[in-house]
Amino acid sequence: MLSSRKVLLLNATYEPLSLVTPPKAVTLIWRRVAESIEIDPGQILRSPRYVFEVPSVIRLTQYIDVRARQNRVTNRHRILARDHYRCQYCGRRGSAFDLTLDHIMPKSRGGRTVAENLVTSCRECNNRKSDRTPDEARMPLLTNPSALYYGLERGEFRRAAETRPEWRKYLFLEDWEEQQARDLQSNAG
Ligand SMILES: [Zn+2]
Repeated sequence: MLSSRKVLLLNATYEPLSLVTPPKAVTLIWRRVAESIEIDPGQILRSPRYVFEVPSVIRLTQYIDVRARQNRVTNRHRILARDHYRCQYCGRRGSAFDLTLDHIMPKSRGGRTVAENLVTSCRECNNRKSDRTPDEARMPLLTNPSALYYGLERGEFRRAAETRPEWRKYLFLEDWEEQQARDLQSNAG
């Protein structure tokens, strides 16, 4: 039971970063890299010599730059999963075999290989767009930049938060949904 429970890891600024296992969380606290800010009631972790209270939420004692961190995790499958295996230009669904990753701002024009500049694209759309921006190619994205940036972790947070009400105030789910709605409106306007 304990093994499937996760601990919410926050940045020093209280920004949610990821989910970690209880042993990992306890190690971070032990090394003073993080501090416990919410305990998971009744959850205990034992080592041969010690008994640890398992945290529910921990916070890094030092700020880490999320953008720098996010840049390293541009794993192809995570991007495809974030975009639900759907071409973000035409909406067509595909498999890992027939979908490609497109640089929104083309690489040839300085676009970086980072999660928020990469979207799932079918081969046809990728060829058609070529080295143009979505605006130039008149191929508007089906999603918006904040979804690209936060989507990798958000899906996981959201599922986990369903059973962990004490996380909600850290995940700002409502705020984020509001922001999404605003973005959609301003994109449409
Ligand atoms: Zn397409």
